[in-house]
Amino acid sequence: MQKATAETLIPLDSPQAMLTGFLSHLLDDHGMVFDRSGDNTHSFAQDGYVVELSVQPSALRIRLEAPDDNAMIFSKEGIVHHVAELDPDAAQQIRWSGAAPRVGEFPKNFRLLTVKRSEILFAGMQRVTLHYPDIDGLQGDGIHLRLIMPLNPARTPVWPVMGENGAPVWPQREDALHARYVTLKNIRTDVQEVDIDIVRHGTGLVSGWAQNTQAGQIVGAMGPTGRVNLPEAQSYFLAADGTGLPAIARFLENLPATACGDVVVALPDGVSPQSYFPETPLNIHTLTPDMFEAEVLDHALRLTRANVTDYGFFAGEFSNAQALRKHFKAGLGLDKTSQLSTAYWRRER
Ligand SMILES: Cc1cc2nc3c(=O)[nH]c(=O)nc-3n(C[C@H](O)[C@H](O)[C@H](O)COP(=O)(O)OP(=O)(O)OC[C@H]3O[C@@H](n4cnc5c(N)ncnc54)[C@H](O)[C@@H]3O)c2cc1C
Repeated sequence: MQKATAETLIPLDSPQAMLTGFLSHLLDDHGMVFDRSGDNTHSFAQDGYVVELSVQPSALRIRLEAPDDNAMIFSKEGIVHHVAELDPDAAQQIRWSGAAPRVGEFPKNFRLLTVKRSEILFAGMQRVTLHYPDIDGLQGDGIHLRLIMPLNPARTPVWPVMGENGAPVWPQREDALHARYVTLKNIRTDVQEVDIDIVRHGTGLVSGWAQNTQAGQIVGAMGPTGRVNLPEAQSYFLAADGTGLPAIARFLENLPATACGDVVVALPDGVSPQSYFPETPLNIHTLTPDMFEAEVLDHALRLTRANVTDYGFFAGEFSNAQALRKHFKAGLGLDKTSQLSTAYWRRER
């Protein structure tokens, strides 16, 4: 698919204040470090995505690149969301260059998927199989899906539609929706099916839905999105709790047979890594889910070495993600192209 680009000029009384707020939020919450060029453009580039911000007279200019049109929907929505956090009126005024959004229609990457079955895969993990009719053509777009369901499960769903500012308009109040990312663990294009594996963690709406859903139920989904392959490296260190197991499995599928390194994952006693992950030349170490958060950093310190480990990946709880990111960057000298440590969920403290 062809790279997508878009640009907007947001009229503001104080564009510098918006820029400063924007940059500090993206750094603090998402670990995104922007480079500043001579002409005062602040830019961030990763995995085919580019965000450029520059202050203009009474306006903030934002230019985006994304790997394809579907990925661009997420990029535009992210920008609108962050602008809205700082100035809700300005977010409503955003208009993008290029084709006008199909206002009132479903976003291009939105689908209604039908549940085929749901079963316990192993202790603490539920597998839901979904009918996904056009997954064959979409699977190259990424490995993650944003599942969408009514916040009040008793409500008939009102799904998001495109707004003039290029972002989906999410229903509010009694029709409010709940959206969370999951990963496509298995894709069977021949029968138009995907499996998603969801941690049985008790209080979450998505987790509860996974445990109770039945064949024939409909769920909303946007995507897929997110990188399909890890960059080439000499020695990998990958780690994830239950929420990142499907992502690790997908990455291992695509690594060459010559790859080497270590993987640390949360798996209950009695579940062999071979039963969940594809065959891999990497060494897989397991921690029980109840010990993972406390022990994963020690394993990373023991199994990685500066100038040897040249790619680091972590997916799991927020505090772990921060600690692992710090180790990847400060301890191993990895940069944004050679490490990715992402909070897949955040423990309420
Ligand atoms: C790119 C990406 C891919 C992801 N892929 C998967 C996947 O394939 N499978 C998967 O299970 N998750 C995955 N996640 C994580 C998932 O989106 C979160 O766990 C999400 O919070 C679950 O939503 P919920 O409605 O169940 O709970 P929420 O309503 O979000 O949270 C309710 C409460 O549950 C707590 N909570 C949330 N997740 C957990 C957890 N895992 N363990 C313990 N407490 C928790 C929260 O702290 C909160 O207190 C992914 C996240 C990202 C960003």
